[in-house]
Amino acid sequence: MNRFLPLLLLSLILSACRAASLAPPDPLARYRPAFHAAAVPASVDTAAMPRYDITMRVDMAQRQVEGLARIHFRNLSGRPLNDVYVRLYPNLEQLVGGMRLTRAVTLPEQYAVGYAFILQNTAARITLTQPLPPDADLDLELGYEINAPARQGYVLFGESEGILSLPYSYPILAAQTRDPTNPWRLEIPPAHGDIAIADPAFYAVTVTLPSDVTLISTGVTISVTQPLSDTVDHLIVAGPAREWGLILSRDYQVSRVEVDGTRVNSYYLPADRVAGEAALRYAAGALRVYNRLFAPYPYTELDVVAAPTRYLGMEYPGLNYIGLDTYRGQQESQEWLVAHEVSHQWWYEMVGSDPFRWPWLDEGLAEHSSLLYIANLYGQAQVERIRFLRWRVPTEWAAGHDLDDKVGQEVTAFTAGNYETLVYAKSALFFDALYEAMGREAYLRVLQTLIERYRYRTPTPEDFLALVVEVGGFDPTPLYEQWILSGGE
Ligand SMILES: [Zn+2]
Repeated sequence: MNRFLPLLLLSLILSACRAASLAPPDPLARYRPAFHAAAVPASVDTAAMPRYDITMRVDMAQRQVEGLARIHFRNLSGRPLNDVYVRLYPNLEQLVGGMRLTRAVTLPEQYAVGYAFILQNTAARITLTQPLPPDADLDLELGYEINAPARQGYVLFGESEGILSLPYSYPILAAQTRDPTNPWRLEIPPAHGDIAIADPAFYAVTVTLPSDVTLISTGVTISVTQPLSDTVDHLIVAGPAREWGLILSRDYQVSRVEVDGTRVNSYYLPADRVAGEAALRYAAGALRVYNRLFAPYPYTELDVVAAPTRYLGMEYPGLNYIGLDTYRGQQESQEWLVAHEVSHQWWYEMVGSDPFRWPWLDEGLAEHSSLLYIANLYGQAQVERIRFLRWRVPTEWAAGHDLDDKVGQEVTAFTAGNYETLVYAKSALFFDALYEAMGREAYLRVLQTLIERYRYRTPTPEDFLALVVEVGGFDPTPLYEQWILSGGE
């Protein structure tokens, strides 16, 4: 035996220890339970993404939230910043809520701030006492209070049917444009469009709630502790996520299944068990299909939840609202709704889509992805039925009733009367025409490349069209002009 071997081993172990202690700490370590490592490759610039640390207490009876949010962010504008903007979406007219700031400070403190409400109170402009240099980081600490309404009918925000829906329940850093002349996105979303425009971020949220309430949110719950007798603290981590959604009820029941390493949860009210289990099957099926057609889903959890949004849905990262009506009288529309909302986890969440400037890119891709799901499960006859009933009939009806218009416009160009027909159905006919003309393989290659190149970024319509040419070897111009740039003349 070589008597130097033990010494050699010891020195190897010591050098291994030294190497380990020199390795930089993983800045994403606390968020890793929320996402699959492969979903966030090194090419994604996570260092530039905001970090939210939020503690919030929810009073179910009063429908009030009291919170403290620390937002860590980087100045991406390429110039010194004098102002920082956060959105207070509960003040939007269509949400019928109320939100106010109770304090605003910076860390480090030399930027100590003042603030003013703008954009009909849907944003606060936070003025720094000295400019924040380009690429410098800053922490904002914002205290806030929210009042949510109790309402009937379509309720996206507030309480209905024993469900308290609280998306947008924290100050959301306005999206940064990286354009020095106009560094922030500051639009007021109209009632017929989607609400939030925000950059992908990481979240650690502690929610204090009565102990008998079921919490469903973006991200995963890491721990539930009970510091007091009648409340519990839920610690949740999430990201990369464009927003953080939250919905609560004392009545929810849950069914679960695992798909490709992701836990799929369906939450429903006790009387709706059969439809709740159907929603679980549809969500699991959609996840399986999109994982194979597009790219693997990024998160370790996917929720579908019965929400008081009538027959409509709404997508949040990892969290899909499915309207209660589809668990009751309108069950035949539930499968399509689930497939549509789940597809937004690729088109909106992973690949950003701008719901203000190009809502058609967002909704058209989601609609057409749902058709691919149907094609995968039910075959051609069902595909033809959807094309006809869901897209062609409404598009032709709109054209015959003076409601046609160009699809390629920003959200404010539409009305509640033609938004869904043009931005969903007519836009879907554009993607469908591309799909038919290019063929399935080339079309899917374009979508897969879209994800590879624009993961956690937001492509423009021109970026998409350029990929159709480059990757699909197809000139989309005539179809684009026919379906997206024509109409309403
Ligand atoms: Zn949609």
